[in-house]
Amino acid sequence: MWDSDTETVDPPLGQCPACDVTIPAANLVIAYDRAGDWPRMLAACPDCGDAVNPV
Ligand SMILES: [Zn+2]
Repeated sequence: MWDSDTETVDPPLGQCPACDVTIPAANLVIAYDRAGDWPRMLAACPDCGDAVNPV
């Protein structure tokens, strides 16, 4: 993930909390910029198809 040849690719958003599938950045649905502890985002899971909060 930290290899230099990945620099042209957006890092994945995280994993689906339900399926543990890596969610690519292209699946981002919406991102909230929060001043609080955690940024919140919704992404479409490529496996279950749900909008989830990547973990
Ligand atoms: Zn899923």
